[in-house]
Parts: sequence; C-alpha cells; structure tokens
Amino acid sequence: MPDKPALVKCLVWDLDNTLWQGTLLEDPNVQLSSEIRDVITTLDSRGILQSIASKNDYDLAWQRLEDLGIAEYFVLPRIGWGRKSDSVTAIADKLIFALSAIAFIDDMPSERAEVTFHAPDIRCYAADQALALPALPEFSPAVVTVDARRRREMYQASFRRDAEKESFTGPDEGFLRSLDLEMHIKRADKEDLSRVEELTLRTSQMNATGVHYSDEDLLSLLADPAHEVLTVTLTDRFGPHGAVGVLLLEYRQAVWHLRLLATSCRVVSFGAGAVIIGWLIDQAAQAGAHLAADFRPTERNRMMDIAYRFAGFTNDQCECLGQLEPMSDHGDIQCLHLVAARQPAPSTMRLISPDLAAGQAPGDQAG
Ligand SMILES: [Zn+2]
Repeated sequence: MPDKPALVKCLVWDLDNTLWQGTLLEDPNVQLSSEIRDVITTLDSRGILQSIASKNDYDLAWQRLEDLGIAEYFVLPRIGWGRKSDSVTAIADKLIFALSAIAFIDDMPSERAEVTFHAPDIRCYAADQALALPALPEFSPAVVTVDARRRREMYQASFRRDAEKESFTGPDEGFLRSLDLEMHIKRADKEDLSRVEELTLRTSQMNATGVHYSDEDLLSLLADPAHEVLTVTLTDRFGPHGAVGVLLLEYRQAVWHLRLLATSCRVVSFGAGAVIIGWLIDQAAQAGAHLAADFRPTERNRMMDIAYRFAGFTNDQCECLGQLEPMSDHGDIQCLHLVAARQPAPSTMRLISPDLAAGQAPGDQAG
C-alpha cells in the first residue's frame, strides 16, 4: 500500500460557485446544497478546520454565511479583493500550520493556478471535487478526538475579530503576466448589447453610477456619431472571461463625457478597471480633450471610486464641464474631472482597442 498522503488540517473554501451555487454580488440569495453542507459538517466533525478565501464584499458574504447557518464552521475567513495565495498562506501562518497541511478548493482554474504559482505545497481541488473530499485519505484522520469541535471554537474565539481587520494588497504583476491576459475593447454592435445590458444590470458593485441603461437606450446611440458604446472582453490562457465591461461615452467639444462605466466583479483582481480607465485617458489626451466621468457613490461601488481617484479624477471645477448636460433625473450624480495626459501601455495585458482619438482630433473639436 502506498504511503498515506499527509492529512489536511485546514480546508480553505472559495465561495462563489464553489461553496455556494452562483455569484453573491449578482444574486444575493445564492443557495447552499445539502450535499455541500454535509461535507462541511463531516469535515468539521473530524477536527479538520475550514476557512474561506473569497473575492467578495466581506460584510455581504459573511451575512450570507450566517443566513445559511454555516458561518460558525469557518475560522479566519479572508474575504476581500487581494490575492488568494496571500489569503491562504496568511491563514496557514495564523494557524501555525505548514502549507502542506492546507487544502484549497476553488472553481476557477486561474485562482488555483495563482495559489500554486506562489505556494506550490498547498493542495488545490476543483469545485466539482467537493463532494468527494470526505472519502479522500488526506481528509480521513484515523483517530478523531472528541474535542475536535471545541478546538475549532477555540481558534475562532481568538482569530475571528482579527480577520476583519486584515487589509489586502493589489494584484501581483508577475502573476498577471503569467496569465497571458488579452483585453479587447470594441465598438458595440447589436449582438453585443444583450450582454451589455446584463452587465449594467448586474454589476452594481462596479457600476460607476448605478444607472441602468436598457439595450433600447444603448441601441439608439449606436448610430449617433456623438456617442460611443464600447464593450470589453477579456481572455487568458485558460480561456475567455466573456464580456467584462461596458462604456458609454459622449463627445463634447473640449471634453469627453464618460456617462457609464461598468465592469464585472469577476475581473477586479486582474486590474481590468484601471486598464480601461488608463486607455480612455490616453485616447482623450491624444485628441486634446478633457475627461468627465459620472459617478454616484453607493455602498457597493467603492472600488470604482478608488479606481477613478487613483487615475487622477477629482471633483475640481473646469470650464469644460459647462458643456455637459445636467443629469436632472439623477440629481445625486457627481461629475468627476481630469485633464488627460498620455498614459503608458498596460504592463500586465495585451490591449486591442479602437482609435477613438483619430475621429476626434483637436482640429475637429476647435470652437
Ligand atoms: Zn476640463
């Protein structure tokens, strides 16, 4: 008989489409199957600790875990926007476990690859293996002590509070480059619009205004030379991520007005929002135009606010803003402003995009 593999002392779960069915930011009522619940309670009864590494809003995700009645099973949850390898290794550090005693389960191959890239000793499992875990030898200790449950509660008492205070770092350039990311920004056609509508409807977290544009609204703008409707798709070496962003841009004489920017929460960690904003700033700079961007702070789009501020947008006044139509029916929308300067090409992905500036040269816009 071959050597029994080392026992897993802590299993770290991804949430969306792994622990529960669906994506929390798109469906607040994501469901937990009874089979997964059984896996959680079975592993817990064996004294195997369980934790979470999820890219999600902490408060929303933790609330959902509590509503599902399973929050108590997890120690040191890491729910935020940082690298999963950082999350999983931090959990191991806090528990003072070797990485070889940690297992990680996630539906996304890119996330498992990211963990393996930085921490090859961690054993990674695909989401569709979840129900099979309790039967694997590495999850089957020969002896289960009677105080296994008490041990978990002891860890929880000391660590749960600390976990909420953890701050996360941004995406790692070396890892992102290893993914062979390719972003396509293109002018939308009719077929793109259904995907676009879904994005503006569902990405409340990364929608700068929270304003929903129907596909009829956008369709009417496709043929209008004063407007651009742009879609963003992303692929990496594991395959396509599909439509991940939409922009609605209106050209004015001295200013380009970004009326809608929404990106999928699935690609936040790839820095997609910053790449899109950087590209647009560079295009405006080439055309000699200022940029204005509608923004309405909500409880869920802080990431978008950070992206705009990081790119240099401010609340400063400028003459160019007088050219914009006031958004009378959405009175709480702010108009952020930026004097565009040329930007370097993105260092983490290949970008294929239309040349907006060619049609909007400074000479065309004079007056
Ligand atoms: Zn201006």
